[in-house]
Amino acid sequence: MLICELSFQVPDSDTPGYSLHEVDYYAGVPACNRDVPNHRLSLRKNLATGNFEVYRRYFRRKVVTKPCFMVISSTDMGLEEVMFAGSFSEAMAYGDSEYRKYHGGKEPDKVCQHEWPNRAVSCKGGQKGMINHTQSSPEAVPCRFYEVVNTGKWMPKSLQE
Ligand SMILES: [Zn+2]
Repeated sequence: MLICELSFQVPDSDTPGYSLHEVDYYAGVPACNRDVPNHRLSLRKNLATGNFEVYRRYFRRKVVTKPCFMVISSTDMGLEEVMFAGSFSEAMAYGDSEYRKYHGGKEPDKVCQHEWPNRAVSCKGGQKGMINHTQSSPEAVPCRFYEVVNTGKWMPKSLQE
């Protein structure tokens, strides 16, 4: 998966000092591979320090058994543990290694280059691609009401006639 560093700039109003955007590596740890309390593993940016953090959010699995049914639920324990803090690429490598530890093989995530074909879906960079006819990117779709006229400037189609 491609992950864009620029997607982590917007602060989370519910968690001051941290990015709204997060990437989840996994939602839980399989019981057979669990030497730690069950948790979700996610990547976020600490906007105060500028570091990227890979953190665990712990939850407890609760099983309620009745005579004719069983309910399995997860209770968020409200506990977080920052497992790694550092640069964007280092944090991504750490997240990948933790994923492999509990879930097995995984294609390593890649740093978004903000341009097709190495552009993440959530990428906030490379806006110039939106009006550049020379790029062969499938995302470089020009606004259909504008065309390049022979002055080299962008002009609404209605003003060209
Ligand atoms: Zn990007």
